[in-house]
Amino acid sequence: MTDAQSVRDGAAPAGVWAAPGRVNLIGEHTDYNDGFVLPVALPQAARADVRLRTDGLLRLHSEQAGGGPVELAVADLVPGGVDGWAKYPAAVVWTLRAAGYGVGGADVRIDSSVPTGAGLSSSAAIECVVATAYNDLHGLGLDGPALARLAQRAENEFVGVPCGIMDQMASVCCTEGNALFLDTRDLAQRQVPLDLAGAGLRLLVIDTRVKHDLADGAYAELRAGCERAAALLGLPALRDLDPAGLAAALERLPAELRPPVRHVVTENARVREAIAHLDLGDLAALGPILTAGHASLRDDYEVSCPETDLAVDTAVAAGALGARMTGGGFGGSVIALTAADTLDAVAAAVTTAFTDAGYAAPRTFTAVPARGAHRIG
Ligand code: ADP
Ligand code: MG
Repeated sequence: MTDAQSVRDGAAPAGVWAAPGRVNLIGEHTDYNDGFVLPVALPQAARADVRLRTDGLLRLHSEQAGGGPVELAVADLVPGGVDGWAKYPAAVVWTLRAAGYGVGGADVRIDSSVPTGAGLSSSAAIECVVATAYNDLHGLGLDGPALARLAQRAENEFVGVPCGIMDQMASVCCTEGNALFLDTRDLAQRQVPLDLAGAGLRLLVIDTRVKHDLADGAYAELRAGCERAAALLGLPALRDLDPAGLAAALERLPAELRPPVRHVVTENARVREAIAHLDLGDLAALGPILTAGHASLRDDYEVSCPETDLAVDTAVAAGALGARMTGGGFGGSVIALTAADTLDAVAAAVTTAFTDAGYAAPRTFTAVPARGAHRIG
């Protein structure tokens, strides 16, 4: 039966899908430098109830955004042409069509438990849930990396955010109980077991609930700086700069590019170091790597802020094995690796420190590695 027939028969292809948010254990600001990342999917996910339509309309509803549905004509979609939250799902439909897939409209009802703007990738969760639903409903046969690339292109070209591939790969390709070791150059991936409970550990997520305005402009500028540095060094990407040659390479760069380049190169090394420990089953060894990663983001990449610094410093002082900001920076969330029996003390210490500093109380929860995008009904 074709989609059109089934709609006439009152049974348009439909279903329910979920795609998660993520936290990145280590490997920050490396994904647009062809480098390595190590995200885990969160139990918090975007759910989408999707029913195909044959009249070319995309009707988008979000429980969180509220209000009536946003109605868009699929044929009229143009990059930059949709305002507000609806641009994320619309971007996916536009990108599928731009890639040559003859897809049309749908009724899409979104209900997401991923906090927005908290550095936990609520935007990729929306893109990936819609992409996965369309892939299934239209039988497109796209695999995980192809779906992630499509969702990234949607965010880059239609929404206009020059993000790397990590968030979309995490939302689509993560599996329960594992971290995703991803080479963002060729999307080679390996599921790395992360049995936190088995190791007597917990991964605490601290959403600082601040996002400084700087974020978007600074991100584009940092990305451009990395590309300029790679070009000056005659490299395809900063990924290709060997840590052994870092000091000599920095000498060849203008002063303002040296710290960010040092961050990217040492951060890639930290991902490899983390993997080496995880492969030996030594999860606790991640702690100091996280804290070193935070120092690099704060001092070399300069994307931290007083709130994330306070959360990291307080968590470590309260007994966390290590902590760092996660996500693009200038606010968002911090992760802290703790022993199971210090989890509550660490969370309480951070909350008290925020109150004492006059900040709004952070939101805290424990992350358990969850599965990537999938059909649930
Ligand atoms: P992050 O991806 O880190 O959460 P972004 O700024 O990239 O932050 O994306 C947040 C945006 O994604 C929101 O401002 C909103 O437009 C959209 N979004 C995320 N979740 C939802 C939702 N449940 N309903 C509607 N829009 C959402
Ligand atoms: Mg986002």
